[in-house]
Amino acid sequence: MNNSSLKAIFITATDTGVGKTIVSCAIGIALKKQGIDVGVMKPFQCSGDDTDFLMRALGVKDDKRLVNPYYAKEPLAPYLAFKRAKIKIDLDKVFSAYEELKKRHEFLIVEGAGGLLVPIKENYLVCDLIKDLDIPAVIVARAGLGTLNHTLLTQRYALDYAIDVKGIIINGFKGNNLAEKTNPEVLKLFQEAPLLGIVPFVKNAKSKQGLENLAKAAKNNLDLKLLLKTKRHINSRLAKDDKDFIWHPFTRMKEWLNDEPLIIEEAKGSYLKDSQGRWYLDGVSSLWVNVHGHRKREIDLAVRNQLNKVAHSTLLGLGNVPSIGLARKLVEIAPSGLKKVFYSDSGSTAVEIALKMAYQYWQIKGKPKTTFIHLENSYHGDTIGSVSVGGIDLFHKAYKKLLFKSFKVDSPYCYRCPKDKTYPLCGFECLNMLKETLSTHHQKIAALIVEPLVQAAAGMIVWPPGVYKEMAGLCKKHNVLLIADEVAVGFGRTGTMFASTQEAVSPDILCVAKGITAGYLPLAATLATQKIFDAFPTFFHGHTYTGNPLACSAALANLEVFKKEKTLEKLKSKIEFFKGGLERFKALEHAGDIRQKGFMVGIELVKNKKTKEPYAWEEKIGAKVCRKARDYGLILRPLGDVVVLMPPLSISKPELIRLLDGAYEAIVEITECYR
Ligand SMILES: *Cc1c(COP(=O)(O)O)cnc(C)c1O
Repeated sequence: MNNSSLKAIFITATDTGVGKTIVSCAIGIALKKQGIDVGVMKPFQCSGDDTDFLMRALGVKDDKRLVNPYYAKEPLAPYLAFKRAKIKIDLDKVFSAYEELKKRHEFLIVEGAGGLLVPIKENYLVCDLIKDLDIPAVIVARAGLGTLNHTLLTQRYALDYAIDVKGIIINGFKGNNLAEKTNPEVLKLFQEAPLLGIVPFVKNAKSKQGLENLAKAAKNNLDLKLLLKTKRHINSRLAKDDKDFIWHPFTRMKEWLNDEPLIIEEAKGSYLKDSQGRWYLDGVSSLWVNVHGHRKREIDLAVRNQLNKVAHSTLLGLGNVPSIGLARKLVEIAPSGLKKVFYSDSGSTAVEIALKMAYQYWQIKGKPKTTFIHLENSYHGDTIGSVSVGGIDLFHKAYKKLLFKSFKVDSPYCYRCPKDKTYPLCGFECLNMLKETLSTHHQKIAALIVEPLVQAAAGMIVWPPGVYKEMAGLCKKHNVLLIADEVAVGFGRTGTMFASTQEAVSPDILCVAKGITAGYLPLAATLATQKIFDAFPTFFHGHTYTGNPLACSAALANLEVFKKEKTLEKLKSKIEFFKGGLERFKALEHAGDIRQKGFMVGIELVKNKKTKEPYAWEEKIGAKVCRKARDYGLILRPLGDVVVLMPPLSISKPELIRLLDGAYEAIVEITECYR
């Protein structure tokens, strides 16, 4: 990997008419002189004969439809030219032509259209094309007055867009005015990318003599070595440093240290790219947080814009703009009755806050309600308070003596229901223990805390419809507060913005985190009713980064994208499609239970499907399946023996098929070996 040389570059410019084609040609000729087989591509051409010229000048024999997939007659930006010509642009056609040409040649020069911000199609600019092709760019600048501004603007935007700029080439240098002569030195001072060369003005460059002159100029004036130099892959160093310095959460560190770590460097849409350039489908939304895909333009921009104003200022005794806008929006979309937003920075803290609020609320009211009820299999976070209401022994048992007391009652885990009833027949027997506890102890109980509809961390335990509504009714009846922990299920995961609304439940306190910033930044919120808020003189709780403006601006943009793209509406058919795709898993010999609620899926693998006998813990079957899934280009993370599929809500149907296929193959391969 270390010495692999560059395979392709994208030639863009500070403006149109600066000489991209001439420079592409000059680079091509110079590389050919070094014995390198060079191909060219001009994905979008609007009028002119650049493609023909480049092919002729570089002696390229490829099919012209590969070299130039899209041609329009009018000299306009591609967006307009193709729209007016009624030609619909299919980017996949461009990408596959690119892959084909890259295969055929040692080096490929891709020439853009105009500059970085030239629109190609709706919501798609030249800079998006560069990012999607995933290649470094060279910026061609004109010589003369105005060059500094244009070049620095282009470079600035490339940087903002994380385009890898190999360098700048000044074209058409005549050297007969002061600006031309002085610009290169000034550019070196202000720009970050190196100056790869200055191509002198060549008269009639497209003629035979002109081409020869151009070749000479390229040879003498272009720094090809610098151009061909790749960023050195530093994966082995990264891996070593990771192992030397990082303690990973929920990770068996001994195994980690003996394994080759996967290190993520970049992402786009539903995909993650590792430090060795391999792409994977993000099958669990980067641990259940990503909503609209990675590097979503609107959210990127919102955070960047906020960064230009203020990154952080405190909410302790001060306000800040994005936190206000977001609080208003959250109250608007939350289940009715929730009127106040208390910010924090993780799901665990959102839960801590909810518990303290409920506890103190009764204290203020003069009622000694000092304990809680939580469910078997519940997970509410990893801080001491949230662990106290946790019901997963593997995670929580070790801290038992450190925790406060809370009543643990049965959970609606239908697959392992002792009554063995499937839920259309179910009489909610799982709620009997809750009923009993409430009637006996309600005077001591401040609140019931639940993960509505899906107990996620326990293995995507999906509740039978109606059970949550029943719980809410019981709380009302016994004057116990209901805390809905929607950290995992909130923000569209179950098909609606919040799970509570599906059963028309208005909890007294609602916790949200994970998806709130669409997977961008750590932020959480605990929403409370007016009644609870009004009881408090001061709530003595707060985290330093409470209401962080960057995170709040990401969250606001998240909600705007939900609205603009009708995310929830579009999700409906995808949920059905997902459901259809899961059908064939049912026939698998070791797929004990397949649970789905919206975009939360858990496939519980068992050793014996008839008896539901689980695999031995040491077999780590879930982990093995997820490890295998990497061979199919998927990143998954299991919950014990439950294989979790939880892609971003923005995933496309073809990507969903890829996810389902990969997961299926991985399950088959692993479970066959461990019969
Ligand atoms: C993830 C999760 C939490 C904890 O959130 P963190 O941000 O990891 O602290 C709490 N409750 C539920 C339901 C969760 O899924």
